[in-house]
Amino acid sequence: MLAQRMSSFSTSGTAKARVAAKAAAAAGRQIIDLSAGEIWCDPPEALRAGAIAAIERGINRYTDTIGIDELREAIAERLSTVTAKPWQADEVAVTAGGKQALFNAAMAILNPGDEVIIPAPYWSTFPAQVQLAGATPVFVETRANGYVPLIKDIRAAVTPATRAIIVNTPGNPTGAVFGRALLGGITELAIRRNLWIIFDECYGSFAYPPARHENIVSTLPQVRSRTLLVGSFSKSLALTGWRLGYLAGPAEVIAAARALQSHTTSNPNVIAQYAVLAHLKNDGGRFEQTLRARLSEARTRGLDILSRLAQVPRPLAQGGFYFYLDLSALLANKLQRGTFADADDIVRLLIERAGVAAVSGTAFGDPAGIRLSYGVPLEALERGLSAVVDALNHMSAGQRSAA
Ligand code: PLP
Repeated sequence: MLAQRMSSFSTSGTAKARVAAKAAAAAGRQIIDLSAGEIWCDPPEALRAGAIAAIERGINRYTDTIGIDELREAIAERLSTVTAKPWQADEVAVTAGGKQALFNAAMAILNPGDEVIIPAPYWSTFPAQVQLAGATPVFVETRANGYVPLIKDIRAAVTPATRAIIVNTPGNPTGAVFGRALLGGITELAIRRNLWIIFDECYGSFAYPPARHENIVSTLPQVRSRTLLVGSFSKSLALTGWRLGYLAGPAEVIAAARALQSHTTSNPNVIAQYAVLAHLKNDGGRFEQTLRARLSEARTRGLDILSRLAQVPRPLAQGGFYFYLDLSALLANKLQRGTFADADDIVRLLIERAGVAAVSGTAFGDPAGIRLSYGVPLEALERGLSAVVDALNHMSAGQRSAA
């Protein structure tokens, strides 16, 4: 007998994709896994050295609930550079990944009955956490506009119950990057309608020209008092399993996050904290630059292969490390014949026919999309995407010959 709240959400779709890929691999199939939300390479050297040094120095105990001062100061310093305005350590809470930062934010600002605007397709944790806080997600469709919301659609979704809007740029799963004009429109709306902005920039290191990632606070400094920045080292430093991220915002929200965290997880992993601190002090941004260059190369190679798709538009993939394919045209035709009805079916067929694991858009509120990660070694990416293109083109050809 589970609590009522458990009926409103289930295990994340990306976790389901991993399970399906593992099951196929366990049955002896060679599977190329393009479903993971992480990058294959090792974390930075300075960071690994920092972790080893911390262990050898006997750093084993609890720290301050929201992280050691030096790390919070280093993050504040980074934010000061990015936003060109000073940030202090009491405006930063270090968390067990961006996920905990988002959870703390939701718990700290949402009341039951509140509404939260979320552009769709969305990362599935956003609505799940809004619901955990007793609030209601309100989705704004972006599919007709290259997965970037129109400000008029966001405006139309605001009601007297709206409390916050979640902005995730570069976005998971779509790779869409919000431009400065849109961010400006959102800040203006938030100020006028007295809304919070939860700004998730966990993929902020990865935007590919001409797209450019902008921190929303740098577009209009007045918005800072109503913005909660969510950052993560999971993706930018390729250390998803180490669990380190942060929440930055007004000191009263950070104090609330501290209180909440003190009763949930306490401090984030101490070795990870010292490791990231060593990285921030010693690396000077070199690792992130190298990683961006590698991903950019993977993106270019991947887009080249995907340009052979017959009935699926080449994705824009402006940021992050995902190709998000719009299968609407493929599904629209085939629907009449009933071999496959939605992206779940296509994902299943891709495992069977192409030996590739992808994530279905149904996990992201979009039954017509699939997500393929390019955070994998180039050789696997090329083989995987070529197999996906062949399989999808075969499905399109099947339709045409049956027509
Ligand atoms: N935000 C977005 C949009 C994500 O895609 C993820 C992870 O996939 C996160 C936040 C949280 O990542 P983590 O908790 O590993 O820092």
